[in-house]
Amino acid sequence: MLTPAQAETLIEQHLACLPIESLPLTQAAGAILRENIYAERDQPPFDRVAMDGIALTTAGASGNAGRLRVTGTQNAGDPPRTLADPSECIEIMTGAMLPQGCDAVVPVELITRNGEFAEIGKKAVTPWQNIHRRGSDCRQGALLLSAGTRLSPPEVAIAAGAGMARVRVSAQPMIVVISTGNELVEPGEQIAPHQVRRSNAYGITAALRQHGYTRVADDHVRDDEAQLTDRLAFHLRTHDVLILSGGVSMGQLDLVPKVLEKLGVSLVFHHVAQRPGKPMWFGVSQSGPAVFALPGNPVSTLVCLSRYVLPAMRAAMGQAPGGPPRIALTAPVEVKAPLAFYMPVKLKSDDWGRTSAEPCPTNGSGDFTALAGTDGFVELPPGPGTFPKGFVARFFPW
Ligand code: AMP
Ligand code: MG
Repeated sequence: MLTPAQAETLIEQHLACLPIESLPLTQAAGAILRENIYAERDQPPFDRVAMDGIALTTAGASGNAGRLRVTGTQNAGDPPRTLADPSECIEIMTGAMLPQGCDAVVPVELITRNGEFAEIGKKAVTPWQNIHRRGSDCRQGALLLSAGTRLSPPEVAIAAGAGMARVRVSAQPMIVVISTGNELVEPGEQIAPHQVRRSNAYGITAALRQHGYTRVADDHVRDDEAQLTDRLAFHLRTHDVLILSGGVSMGQLDLVPKVLEKLGVSLVFHHVAQRPGKPMWFGVSQSGPAVFALPGNPVSTLVCLSRYVLPAMRAAMGQAPGGPPRIALTAPVEVKAPLAFYMPVKLKSDDWGRTSAEPCPTNGSGDFTALAGTDGFVELPPGPGTFPKGFVARFFPW
């Protein structure tokens, strides 16, 4: 049986990169950039005044007993004035271009205005004080953002600063979440004692929305070969990614693998040496779509989604690989079976801001009520063995 790392590698190898689309910058927050963005101009693009005050020359400041005639005003956005005489100065505002002939700014707080004169006293004025020099942050043509970057607020502002009205980003995949099972009943509908709420599809959809996927459809199919064949054929024609839950184990009505293969979806793997989530199935359709068929037990479904599907989709969107963070356990965890073990955890911060993972055991893979308040899970190596407090493990968020 495959290890989780081998399963992850196989998924990566079989998943095609998603197409590129051009979006207006106002709609690009959270998208994955698929082009490099370079500085349009030097940054700052001119010697930028950094304080409200007066612009002058250091030579003029040291002469004239610190008393300079104010010859005019220059606001941000005004073309630069010229200071012809070092015994004079120009009233200046933050964000303005430094006037020609000036090399320093004295802030308004240090100035006494006396009619048409500004008095700065004997305080030393050093060249380029309170001036954000042209090109001191970066030069025209410098690489600001690389393809694969997720556009968070600073990156959106940087792209705007580089003059980009639109950016080329990964197109949103068309995803469909399909639950299977005769026992499942929609929340809000009447339920009989022998039936179960259809909760997985809601959990999966919530995770997808939380991770920024917007084109998410939802379907439910009974454990009926004809219906399953018909619905899956339709979804394979209309979506890029299918995420199924249930119907992948050994029961007589676990029909998902058989139907998928009949529809031309090539099996990449079935079963991973892990708990929960051992029956996970993954394949790729000849026509393109990737199919993740997750086991139906609710803890297994969410674990497999976060462990495999979400990272794979990030890779397909072209996001630069980061890898999950590693976090220490706050308490020992015993792993009984010779399978990788996923332990749900709550993240805790100590007084120094260091994060650790508090184990939150469940009553098995059906016990999703135990997941309330957890942040994700850690992946522990196969047992048997006990991993002590302080053991550092990879953390996967929900
Ligand atoms: P299966 O993988 O189809 O054998 O399902 C395993 C267990 O998970 C069964 O107890 C199912 O009732 C339950 N289950 C399957 N799908 C869902 C779902 N969408 N929501 C909640 N429970 C489910
Ligand atoms: Mg089932």
